Amino acid sequence: MREPNRERVPPARRTGLRQRLAELRGPEVPPQPLDARALAALAANPGCKRRAILDGAGVNKTALASALGSPSAFGQSQFAFMRGNAFEARVKADGGAELLRLVHEKLDAGAVPPTTGTVPDLSAVGPEGRTAHTALALREATDAGVWTLLDHPLLALDVAGSPAFLEPDAVVVHPDGSWTVVEIKSFPMLDGSADAAKVGAAARQAAVYVLALERVAARLGAGPEGRAGDAAHAEATPLTVPAPSDLPTTALATPAEAPTETLGTPGAQDGIRTRPPEVRHTVLLVCPKDFSNLPTASAVDVRKQRSVTRRQLDRLTRIEDIADLLPEGTCFSPDLPTADLTAAVESVPATYAPECLSACELAFHCRDHSRAEGAVTSLGRSLRAELGGLTTVDDVLSAARGETGDPTDPAVAALRRAAALRAEALGSGARPGAEPPGSTEGLRAEASGRAAC
Ligand code: SF4
Repeated sequence: MREPNRERVPPARRTGLRQRLAELRGPEVPPQPLDARALAALAANPGCKRRAILDGAGVNKTALASALGSPSAFGQSQFAFMRGNAFEARVKADGGAELLRLVHEKLDAGAVPPTTGTVPDLSAVGPEGRTAHTALALREATDAGVWTLLDHPLLALDVAGSPAFLEPDAVVVHPDGSWTVVEIKSFPMLDGSADAAKVGAAARQAAVYVLALERVAARLGAGPEGRAGDAAHAEATPLTVPAPSDLPTTALATPAEAPTETLGTPGAQDGIRTRPPEVRHTVLLVCPKDFSNLPTASAVDVRKQRSVTRRQLDRLTRIEDIADLLPEGTCFSPDLPTADLTAAVESVPATYAPECLSACELAFHCRDHSRAEGAVTSLGRSLRAELGGLTTVDDVLSAARGETGDPTDPAVAALRRAAALRAEALGSGARPGAEPPGSTEGLRAEASGRAAC
């Protein structure tokens, strides 16, 4: 699949959008740069227009949440931070020998085992210099065909017309020239498995890095689609490819800006690369083993997260559609009075779900409002999906009592059956359609209790 050509957006429209987003952010408020965590969080709740416009406008959501009176609970304790840094240093000690061994063991057992790895120096002045240096190091390592560890490379990803600079823990270049993203986390892996929510968050973050690496690969070769042999890749590989870049000066050019030439034979020939380096869609997650400080690792397939994040990023380029729906004068500046700010935030539709609590700074604000509206999404997305057109707790209770709802609707039928069973269990002998025991308020309280997540 070809990348959307963001340069096709007319320059005047882009300027107008930037101005509009600056107005939404507030006068004199600097934009909050997007990082991998923020981009990954977009994938955690792909349908939320509120988050999309706030991120697109560069609003500082932490400051916004505090100004709304619902400060976020994000942040890492100093102790956890230091422990994480110490663990990462241990994993990368001795030129990354242990890390390369884990990559070889988990992802590329057929390759020649790493005896000594190369760790290029990626230091440079400014983020642009570091991203260019990273691209140069990736190209050299790919051409050299030896195990190479890039420690904290810097990658740039175009997000709604602005570059987001992303810093993965490590990227490993395999002897076959393919690239693997490595995420090092300090949560434990017990008996080979770890907390599913934390692994999911790490996978979404790694998927953002994969996308950014694919942009780099696209500049060094052809399309950005990753593994050769991958069905999606085979389907999507374009017939024309960018010509070799003269790094580092062209390392920051977008694929659309690069000249193209007809696809030739794979690999680099006479210094001319005719196929992009392969970005693996399986990343390596490294964690402490059990309760020790010894590293262990697991391969994580991030294809799904990559697709979701990519769709979200493409969607961000259409935030003008969301911005157009907002009332004139809407502004999210944290300096505004709380009432004005609340009205501004509430003017953008949101789709709160319990997953927001671990992914978005506005979670407490959105949860309060979602509960106040009686939205069933506050009880979880799976329940929301099962309830079909019943979107509020009132709708659900009313349908269960037989007051509203189409009896042929499977959700309504299931609710009435559940109400009858509940009544029977409590000894009232109520039948489907009859008032279940317990007041509406009581049932609502039960629902609210479930929403404590
Ligand atoms: S917390 Fe609110 S703004 Fe953030 S993703 Fe969830 S619903 Fe959207």
